[in-house]
Amino acid sequence: MPDSCLFCRIVAGEIPATIVHETPDTVAFRDINPRAPSHILVIPRRHVDSVATLAPADEALAGRLLLAAGEIARQEGFADQGYRVISNIGDWGGQTVSHLHLHVMGGRSFTWPPG
Ligand code: AMP
Ligand code: ZN
Repeated sequence: MPDSCLFCRIVAGEIPATIVHETPDTVAFRDINPRAPSHILVIPRRHVDSVATLAPADEALAGRLLLAAGEIARQEGFADQGYRVISNIGDWGGQTVSHLHLHVMGGRSFTWPPG
């Protein structure tokens, strides 16, 4: 793991985070700058740069991240209303932390116009 990776340091417990969900392979915590009433990041414990660098051997891990996203939505109570799961990749994708993460956002509508 890159020593300087912010999310690896959260996994290691070196940087505090509000952890809301954990599995043997994944950790989820509240985004420090939430853009929805509930905004959670789900990450693999093991460092992976982004969706773009997932390998065929990471197939199970990729599935577990999505399963965790669904469990978090139910746990947070917005699964029935609907919600958004996104992953930003690279510069043009707006990725600012180079450790794969899914944004799980709920508690408001993401449609435009709203409603
Ligand atoms: P992205 O821009 O897709 O790479 O998403 C990175 C996310 O990490 C942003 O939404 C940030 O608000 C969030 N973030 C940055 N530092 C922290 C931190 N220490 N704890 C929780 N979330 C963070
Ligand atoms: Zn990392």
